Amino acid sequence: MKAASPKTARELLVRYNLHAKKKWGQNFLIDDNIIRKIVATGQLSQEETVLEIGPGLGAMTQYLGEQAGKVVCLELDADLLPVLQETLAEYNNIVIRQGDALKTDLDRLVTEAGGKLPYKVIANLPYYITTPLIMHLLEKGFHVSRMVLMVQKEVAQRMTAQPGTADYGALSVAVQYFCRCTIKFFVPPSVFLPRPEVESAVVELVPLAQPAVQLEDEGLFFQVVKAAFNKRRKTLVNALANSPLAMDKSTVTRILEGLGMDTRIRGEALSINRFAQLANAIYDNLY
Ligand code: SAM
Repeated sequence: MKAASPKTARELLVRYNLHAKKKWGQNFLIDDNIIRKIVATGQLSQEETVLEIGPGLGAMTQYLGEQAGKVVCLELDADLLPVLQETLAEYNNIVIRQGDALKTDLDRLVTEAGGKLPYKVIANLPYYITTPLIMHLLEKGFHVSRMVLMVQKEVAQRMTAQPGTADYGALSVAVQYFCRCTIKFFVPPSVFLPRPEVESAVVELVPLAQPAVQLEDEGLFFQVVKAAFNKRRKTLVNALANSPLAMDKSTVTRILEGLGMDTRIRGEALSINRFAQLANAIYDNLY
């Protein structure tokens, strides 16, 4: 039984006495053309393992099961497990686990389920935790070779934004520090049940062999980036002074001058390279 149709999705929800839970971002895909497009973007082979976060009713999981060697899926909502056991019953290469992706060591989950490292992550993400989930996927050093993620259109635009634009922010820097990120296509609300209020986009993230820039201290770099964008209308000097880093304004001014940068510059104008130079200079000043 294909779970990707409005009729089947509704029938499953009624039969299991369920409703789509808004609090967990449950918008189920009901269009198999979109699912095929997402899965094709993953360029899967029969040797590969895929991790799907939030399989829902299993609509996309079925397609992943056909294309990949092994599929591990992790669903937070325990009520959906009996549904998944039914919709995925025919696939002996799919392992279903219940848990919170944000609190899970994903490498361990995959290997304990019999999957291989590195693996691909393909997911229609729950929108209420998109950014923390992306940060979890990026920061923990999991062995992921490629990610294909459905996110809100605005988040996709922030992930791929360039310096000096309104969308450019801490998420753009974090994503582009770890990955090459591309928007593959946009997705209308009509392919989901229920329809979300926002447009969506599918992004592809390919982790870089080495992070985009060399840093003395990665934690400090992200503190600087966060401080710059927390007060994005302020100059960098004021933003760093009024942040947990509590830097002395004259020190920041001197550092900016040393880097040949305008002392009235705002964080939103800085490229990742410039942020790296700044964080490394702050590090040298501190130690
Ligand atoms: N993959 C399905 C599809 O495309 O039809 C469902 C996608 S729906 C947008 C997001 C799914 O993620 C839901 O099934 C939801 O219960 C699940 N979910 C929400 N928060 C989660 C978390 N922290 N960890 C794992 N799954 C989660």
